[in-house]
Amino acid sequence: MRTAGLDDTIVAVSTPIGEGGIGIVRLSGPESLAIADKIFIAADGGTPSRYTAYTTHYGHVVARGQKQATSHKSQATKIIDEVLLTVMRAPRSYTKEDIVEINCHGGLQAVKKVLELVMKHGARSAEPGEFTKRAFLNGRIDLAQAEAVLDVIRAKTEGSLKVAMQQLDGELSKTVNGIREDIINIASEIEASIDFVDEDIETANTETLAARAGRVIAALKALIGTYCGGAVLREGVLAIICGKPNVGKSSLMNELLKRDRVIVSPIPGTTRDAVEEMISLKGIPIRLVDTAGIIGTKDLLEKEGIARSKKYLGMADIAILVLDHSTGIDEADKAIMGLIRDTPKVVAVNKCDLAGTLGSPKLKKLFKGAEVVEVSVAKKKNIELLEKAISRLVWSGAFTQGEAAIVSNARHKESLDKALANMLSVKKALKEKAPPELVAVDLKEAVFNVGLLIGKSVSEDVLDRIFEKFCVGK
Ligand code: GDP
Repeated sequence: MRTAGLDDTIVAVSTPIGEGGIGIVRLSGPESLAIADKIFIAADGGTPSRYTAYTTHYGHVVARGQKQATSHKSQATKIIDEVLLTVMRAPRSYTKEDIVEINCHGGLQAVKKVLELVMKHGARSAEPGEFTKRAFLNGRIDLAQAEAVLDVIRAKTEGSLKVAMQQLDGELSKTVNGIREDIINIASEIEASIDFVDEDIETANTETLAARAGRVIAALKALIGTYCGGAVLREGVLAIICGKPNVGKSSLMNELLKRDRVIVSPIPGTTRDAVEEMISLKGIPIRLVDTAGIIGTKDLLEKEGIARSKKYLGMADIAILVLDHSTGIDEADKAIMGLIRDTPKVVAVNKCDLAGTLGSPKLKKLFKGAEVVEVSVAKKKNIELLEKAISRLVWSGAFTQGEAAIVSNARHKESLDKALANMLSVKKALKEKAPPELVAVDLKEAVFNVGLLIGKSVSEDVLDRIFEKFCVGK
């Protein structure tokens, strides 16, 4: 992303390009109102730069001819679109700058023409995410909140939306800020002891400081511990439906899709297979893959089939193993069971409407505590129980539900991991009564690393990487 100053005015279409009821052209920056004055003729006879903030006005966007530009009335004007224009004033706006939003008619032509006209009057086309980037650079939101904006846009399920909204609200930032303050306080005491060169850090003081470092470590660990669940909520759990041919995998996949399918476009950054579908179980996005779609029934037990299923199973977060009540467990089942020995799993004993031999107590022992659910996909029996077992398995990770801050972003986790390593060495150094200068270095790094998360310490290229993921107009 090109680094632009904050002194220019940017413009973008903020609604998806294509047909729709309305299309919004949004301007932000010092010239927004002046540009609006030049292109808008209001039905109320007013002028945008004189409007009260947060008011909307009906009128027309017009291109004024350049000839005989003595007064507005004498200029040749061409109506571009009939619009509603909203004015927001700095600093009480999304970007903390003057913002003008023009609601045009939907469809490509109207918004495109308004956009071009605004640019002709001096606005620059916004980079992806530049409105949100300005909100960050102008101090309205911190970096974790800016990233949450993207998560809210992309949220595919109730659970992921909840976490994103919570981060946008500043819950994570508040916790991280608290931790950062604690580290800064420890650092300032250490710095003070460096200034008194003749004195070492007093013993009692070292112990209290080590205890305080311990509390910071505990807080960092708790936050890092939420990551598993957070990532799960953002990206979804990869669940592989596996089993020998004809046990009912495809039937089960179809049944789950019928009940819980969510309409999604691929999540950037995750590889989606053609046979992958997304469902939402109790708010958790689950990416379902039916191995029957990857491996032909014939070659399942052949070398090639095993190699391919191994690759898939290696990526799986969880497996849903389907067995057939009517056939019992045979060599083919055993081969697959071997492949998923270490994968967390739920066992679905299918075709329970038929006579068979697979009893659940025996199976529970065989699968060492994994939940075993007897179902009949054909008769739609116990599917709900199976869904509950799957969501229990997913939620049994480190994730704790509730209002506490949750880390759901790999970049955030990386910063916290680094800060944790710094603080562990701070604590060790304090216990070993190392020179305060050494302790101070680690503390400084910890402050820096925690600051990365909220954007207190962050480089331009990291910012670029974050905001280039946004769409233009946000
Ligand atoms: P896959 O090869 O594992 O994907 O199995 P399919 O889903 O194609 O199912 C194989 C056969 O088992 C089909 O004829 C299904 O109709 C049948 N089937 C699936 N579930 C049940 C069930 O619960 N009971 C009975 N009796 N048949 C089932």
